[in-house]
Amino acid sequence: MGRYAEPLETRFWRQVKKTETCWLWQGYIEPRSGYGQIQLSSPVRKKERPHRVAWMLLRGPIPEGMDIHHTCEVACCVNPDHMELLTGSDHLKKEHQKRRERGMYHKMKRVGSTSKEEKCQSS
Ligand SMILES: [Zn+2]
Repeated sequence: MGRYAEPLETRFWRQVKKTETCWLWQGYIEPRSGYGQIQLSSPVRKKERPHRVAWMLLRGPIPEGMDIHHTCEVACCVNPDHMELLTGSDHLKKEHQKRRERGMYHKMKRVGSTSKEEKCQSS
């Protein structure tokens, strides 16, 4: 018993803020990746990405070898409507493309834009 006595589902939804579009993860966010993190219930003491947990809770298990891609590009968003299942290689391709676009975007427009990462931490 102890800290993680509550079901994963309860702990999970308590840390999610639903907006009209994105469902924002309000729990711990890994600074380096910008992705959230949640500790799974014992005995599996494993950390998992909140968007994957949301998918599993609402849609079911994620098939092996499949990745979840955010169509809204908000790293902390856990709304399954904003996710699609991709094979690992398709996902990598999309990530590369995204990074290229983001790099250009930052060069062109730096001032006055609200980054999507900041949005995640709003309260
Ligand atoms: Zn979203």
